[in-house]
Amino acid sequence: MRRQGRAQSEVLAELDNLRTRDVPWNRVLNSICTVPHEAALRAGQAALDSNLGDLRIFRGCREVEQRALALMGELLGKADCAGSLVSGGTEANLLAMYVARKRRPDIAHPEIVAGETVHYSFGKVCDMLGITLRVVGLDERFRMRPDAALEAINASTIALVGTAGSSEFGAVDPIEELAAIAHSRALYFHVDAATGGFIIPFARALGRDLPQFDFSLAGVSSIAMDPHKYGMSIIPSGAVFFRDQALRDSINLESFFNATPTHHSLIGTRSGAAAAATYAVLETLGFDGYLEVTRKNYRVMDYLIDKLVRQGYRLVAPPQLNIVNVDLPNAVEVMRALEECGWIISVSKRFRHCLRLVVTHHVDEAMVDQFVERLRSIATP
Ligand code: PLP
Repeated sequence: MRRQGRAQSEVLAELDNLRTRDVPWNRVLNSICTVPHEAALRAGQAALDSNLGDLRIFRGCREVEQRALALMGELLGKADCAGSLVSGGTEANLLAMYVARKRRPDIAHPEIVAGETVHYSFGKVCDMLGITLRVVGLDERFRMRPDAALEAINASTIALVGTAGSSEFGAVDPIEELAAIAHSRALYFHVDAATGGFIIPFARALGRDLPQFDFSLAGVSSIAMDPHKYGMSIIPSGAVFFRDQALRDSINLESFFNATPTHHSLIGTRSGAAAAATYAVLETLGFDGYLEVTRKNYRVMDYLIDKLVRQGYRLVAPPQLNIVNVDLPNAVEVMRALEECGWIISVSKRFRHCLRLVVTHHVDEAMVDQFVERLRSIATP
């Protein structure tokens, strides 16, 4: 560290300059995160000095968190479910599996069962908690097969995990069938809706054919859902919800100090800015606002698909959420060539022929036109 500080204006100018290296959003087609809603940005900025890890000081922020959680709980079909705002999908999945593990101290070598496209956060989580991750096969649309899940469940299974919007394909596992399987076996069932939580309720309202994924299904024990993805809040904004207080209270975590309430998150010092931003965007948009955002995302996605198909490109599978995968044998080379031209898309390491395009808040028809033109100059269908 330098001995004497520099002029603040100089440091800020350096930072502004460094940020010009970031790729502008209108060239980004790989990210599930997007430009935050203006209300989220403003509310987040105003609460940057707050800490949800100290609820004796930040009493107002605590109320903000409670209000944000209540709005999301209502969206998930159970206003009285027990939630926590967390740093993102990884922490939400970790806490859910921590609860599942705590529920079954009798099982010496615990296992969880999930589909092959379960998010890689479960690899980390299982490693940390000493759980074996048993992945099962998919159908032709990259969704977990319930019959394969049934086969994999055994006496050491502590949880079944369904993904409501996989990272790679936006594929939604058959959550209703999986919930019924879990319910009939009194098995813990976690739904990772980090991606789909802010799409599915609105897409269903728009008539899209998607399964129910929330607490209205008797078998669902917990849900991860990320405001910092399709919810348009700021990073780090995740959320985890448990069916009831008793379930969440199996991880009542204590701090050192008297008169400090127990907490339910991995992280101690937590961003009050994220809570304020999430509440602000939820309240500013409301259900109808998210409905419009979702309608627009599907419209742009359909426009993209139509353009691609007209040019002779083939999709890997019809998308369920707003993630499109184009079937290209040389997808990795195409990805690199696009990046050289300033466009960021992604290709999964496991599905190397899938050129993945994420349609979210910042993507519009004009951007799609420019992208498809560039793609055509690089990759023949
Ligand atoms: N689960 C799913 C389905 C995801 O798509 C992601 C991230 O893309 C995560 C979990 C992890 O979320 P985070 O990166 O916020 O920790």
